[in-house]
Amino acid sequence: MIAVQAKRCFDSSAHWFPALSFDFVLSNVRIGHESAVVDIAISDGRIAAIGPSLPHDGPCEDGQGLFAFGGFVESHIHLDKAMILDRCPICEGTLGEAIALTARAKAGFTEDDVHARASQVVEKAILNGTTRMRSFVEVDPRAGLRSLDALLRVARDYAWAIDIELCAFAQEGITNEPETALMLARALEKGANLVGGCPYTDPDPAAHVDAIFELARRFDVDVDFHADFDLDPENSILPKICAETIRHGYQGRVSVGHVTKLAAMTPEALRTAAGRLAEAGIAVTILPATDLFLTGRGHPRLAPRGVAPGSVLAEHGVLVSLASNNILNPFTPFGDCSLARIANLYANIAHLARDVDMEQVFSMVTANAALQLRAPHGVCVGASADIVLIDAPSASDAVRSIAPVVSGWKRGRKTFTRPRAELYRP
Ligand SMILES: [Zn+2]
Repeated sequence: MIAVQAKRCFDSSAHWFPALSFDFVLSNVRIGHESAVVDIAISDGRIAAIGPSLPHDGPCEDGQGLFAFGGFVESHIHLDKAMILDRCPICEGTLGEAIALTARAKAGFTEDDVHARASQVVEKAILNGTTRMRSFVEVDPRAGLRSLDALLRVARDYAWAIDIELCAFAQEGITNEPETALMLARALEKGANLVGGCPYTDPDPAAHVDAIFELARRFDVDVDFHADFDLDPENSILPKICAETIRHGYQGRVSVGHVTKLAAMTPEALRTAAGRLAEAGIAVTILPATDLFLTGRGHPRLAPRGVAPGSVLAEHGVLVSLASNNILNPFTPFGDCSLARIANLYANIAHLARDVDMEQVFSMVTANAALQLRAPHGVCVGASADIVLIDAPSASDAVRSIAPVVSGWKRGRKTFTRPRAELYRP
């Protein structure tokens, strides 16, 4: 039995208390690992009480026994370059081609163009139960600050349903284009929340890492790198990033995305790398849709999966999340912003089977991702009433079946409904 939780006034049984006034009660839902259903009471945009059969006399919605959680958290997406397949003819499907095609397209982006495409993507994310996201936004001589200006507008436009933070990102190098560092600084002044780099596209990867940390320190913002995105186990940039993270006292404030080199390392080298990442408090974001599409080319048979081993990293104490990365562009010509689908994709290719594994994968698109963004998350008394109902009895079932989301609330206000599919029996 789940004890009633409330800020004050509750004894162990809610039934003996007179009906209480809440703004709204979401009844009959499952949360966490509990098998019994509970009610969630909401007042002033926050969760006021959780318990079985809460007494109440206000508006109520029946959660039909579905699983309720704090919403998916997209820890790594590129809203600025989403949905551009119409202007990027893919021939090779390689990382090099994706960067070149996108660089060409980016020069033609206008603020309204980015705003329109990003708005479509954000709406897909909301309708797939995402309540928080970190989007990269490329800032360089080709994009200028147009994409940033567009995404700042998008973040404001959709704040009623989703918290969006923006990472000013140097996709195309810094030492080769020094004006990019000045533009990143300008982006941080204009409202970007953190700074990101991509050492593997820079002629001097170590100096690139230094430049990003210099900006991070100057503006006191977090850091997110794209790193080690190939299947050569040698020449990893991780030792440099780990060392700089510790040197700057940035443990808990740095993320690395892709790190597919980890999939190619020997078990011993992988253990060493995982230990270093854990010691430096660096979070890893795995991007399975992109990593599967862009790596492992040139193998006429038995193509490698090329996806970092998240469970091994987690065993060593590394904070691991999963994310969409790209939606319908040369890096990932797929995508619907469903993190339930990404979780299922990852669990499948990682050979996972047990309920405990599925729960860990669910955390990678929810609680872990929120922790990486240093944001609150979860259905508990006192928390912001960010709640999503998914058509499954538990987190592990949601991952196994790519369960559809049914409805969601942000700060206690309902933001979407996707009615459950219905059969019309004769
Ligand atoms: Zn990315």
